Amino acid sequence: MNGIVYLVGAGPGAPDLLTLRAARLLQRADIVFHDALVHPDTIALAVNAEKIAVGKRCGRHSTAQQFINKRLVDAARKHDIVVRLKGGDPMLFGRAQEEIAALEAEGIRCDVVPGITAALAASAELRTSLTQRGIARSLSFATPRVGKGEQASSWAEGLAASDAGAIYMGIGEAPAIAATLLAAGKPPGLPVAVVESASLPEQRIRYTTLAALPHLAAAEISGPALILLGPQFVARESVADDAEVSRCQSELRKATG
Ligand code: SAH
Repeated sequence: MNGIVYLVGAGPGAPDLLTLRAARLLQRADIVFHDALVHPDTIALAVNAEKIAVGKRCGRHSTAQQFINKRLVDAARKHDIVVRLKGGDPMLFGRAQEEIAALEAEGIRCDVVPGITAALAASAELRTSLTQRGIARSLSFATPRVGKGEQASSWAEGLAASDAGAIYMGIGEAPAIAATLLAAGKPPGLPVAVVESASLPEQRIRYTTLAALPHLAAAEISGPALILLGPQFVARESVADDAEVSRCQSELRKATG
């Protein structure tokens, strides 16, 4: 008899933003394969499990997806409860489908436990709703990232057609993102909030505009960061710390002349 593999969302970072279902499964797990971004306190809930880190932090070493798929299949043949713990929600930019397909191909049962995705944590921290009556009725989840050998993506068209957008895995290519969205017709003054390490103590919020986004020093951002764009993401001093707001405002003045 094969075991069950659970694809579990670990949430955005703070260990208490985990679902009860995820916590209970971790406590019962025999083996846990976790992403690099998952908080150590969350992994520690798996008291009886063998714990294996399998990547993924952009640019640094990560385990090839096919190898992860194979390890999940092998683990399900040996153990009753296998947990694949992923940052945020497994079904959003998490390559869950490849793992589900690999498990189904081997006749292994796979269940998914949702988690809080980074965009929801960022919006909570900003105290700014992702949708807003009369202002933002549509929201696009997008990434400019394309894998090796994949076709160029049309992420920008979808985002340009939406009132607001959440861009994952994009901070390293902020200049290209800004250029692409400006070319797609988004206004230069469109408000942008960049939230780094949402929900964690080291969280930082930076406000800017689409035209000034390239001036945001990507080198200064070391944690995972999300780019939120839309009319609702105007700077709110009550949210960012004052020094940060004034630094951004002076950068903005420089950038817009
Ligand atoms: N499945 C995850 C996303 C994985 S892709 C989710 O649902 O959140 C990894 C990207 O998510 C990062 O490049 C970054 O853009 C974003 N991200 C993950 N955690 C984050 C955090 N705590 N704060 C801001 N962005 C985060």
